[in-house]
Amino acid sequence: MQKNKVENLILGGGLSGLSVAYYLGGDYLILEKENEPGGYCRTIHDNDYVWDYAGHFYHFQTEKYKKLFLSLVDESEIIRQRKNTKIYYRGRMVDYPFQTNIHELEKEEFIECLYDLYFRDKEASYSDFLTMLYAKFGKAITEKFLKPYNEKLYATDLHNLDKDAMGRFFPYADFEQVMKSMGKEVKKTYNDDFMYLKCGTGYFIDRLYEKLDTSRVKLGCEVIYINENEKWVKTNDGMTFYYENLINTIPFNNFLELVGDKESTELSKKLSYNKVLVFNMGFDKPSLKYKNEHWVYYPSKEQNFYRVGFYNNILNQDKLSIYVEIGFPKQKDNVDIANELEKTKRGLKEVGVIDNNMRLMKKNAILMDPAYVHISTEELKLVGKAFGKFEEKQIYMLGRYGRWTYNCMEDCIQLADDLARKLKEK
Ligand SMILES: Cc1cc2nc3c(=O)[nH]c(=O)nc-3n(C[C@H](O)[C@H](O)[C@H](O)COP(=O)(O)OP(=O)(O)OC[C@H]3O[C@@H](n4cnc5c(N)ncnc54)[C@H](O)[C@@H]3O)c2cc1C
Repeated sequence: MQKNKVENLILGGGLSGLSVAYYLGGDYLILEKENEPGGYCRTIHDNDYVWDYAGHFYHFQTEKYKKLFLSLVDESEIIRQRKNTKIYYRGRMVDYPFQTNIHELEKEEFIECLYDLYFRDKEASYSDFLTMLYAKFGKAITEKFLKPYNEKLYATDLHNLDKDAMGRFFPYADFEQVMKSMGKEVKKTYNDDFMYLKCGTGYFIDRLYEKLDTSRVKLGCEVIYINENEKWVKTNDGMTFYYENLINTIPFNNFLELVGDKESTELSKKLSYNKVLVFNMGFDKPSLKYKNEHWVYYPSKEQNFYRVGFYNNILNQDKLSIYVEIGFPKQKDNVDIANELEKTKRGLKEVGVIDNNMRLMKKNAILMDPAYVHISTEELKLVGKAFGKFEEKQIYMLGRYGRWTYNCMEDCIQLADDLARKLKEK
């Protein structure tokens, strides 16, 4: 037996890494580069303010994972909310999703949207996201909200995304559903009802972490090289770990760089994604205008942010506590945080989130890199082929970024459960 050999070596101690360890049990080791577990599901506490890495809210479609969540967190910690989300459109608030709430627009714009929706080219074929938007929703709905908003978020030409790039997270609606919504028959979206935790999303991570054998978790331990043929990895403290199975949850583009051969490096360069800069901001007073909204979408290029979330409205707190999200392309190096903060403060005033009487008491900035993977047909093929090649060498990809996909926390838990079962049955 080689020294430092483990049956299941898990790269990354975010939700996916912790979940797969939870379901596997037995001989595992997690290597996590940060000094605390949780990855993007961590929470920051700054005096009265509770901030995530951009708001992380819980919604479940599978009873099994909902039960797991409820069994690990105290009932008294849970806040249940019926989603209240808006779009800030030309100075007024329109309910989200835009496509089923066009009747809330000014009369001329409403008629324009309806006309374009009805007379859209129903026979048009489409394979990319932007062409799909025009084909399904017509010109006006696409150009007033869907195109500018998603361009701001994804920071890319939407022709580069696959038509199903957002999967079930995109609120599709046909003509009939748009008409029905005017009669107030509201179509459900995936997160109409969601749960949040008084101490932030990281509270669930802490409870999950407690269930693990924490002597099998190495924090502050960054993987710097992966030898896929000899089945070992090297870490920044000079250690070498051999494995039977390698489970990767670190972003696939970074994983490929760590493998480092020509083919992997070339694939890594091809992968497309955005980065999201998140400002968490705590003020001394409540917002006079935004009293109930949980989060609001901003399609206009006049503001640098695409979305603002209101922790205080979710947690039923008094003083304004928000997260602000700004999208950048992957090529953008050295995001100028000070400059973006100034633009954000200006934008928050323009849209009425803050006014001159409010003081910013606390703030922090987080760069999520990667944040949203750009899913395209061509990339799906390349990535799928690479996953197959790695699996032949007992290397398994897991999680939102390990599997290079768009998913939520529940999906990460489910993928981990499925993989653990597969490995146990081997
Ligand atoms: C803006 C935004 C908002 C979101 N909101 C929600 C929401 O409201 N609800 C929801 O359900 N989901 C939400 N998600 C999705 C959710 O964040 C992810 O599904 C989930 O956090 C992914 O967990 P993970 O463990 O797969 O990845 P990560 O959290 O990225 O974990 C990967 C881990 O690997 C570690 N790592 C990286 N490199 C190395 C290395 N070289 N060596 C060792 N360790 C390394 C990292 O430090 C990290 O801990 C959101 C995502 C984004 C981007």
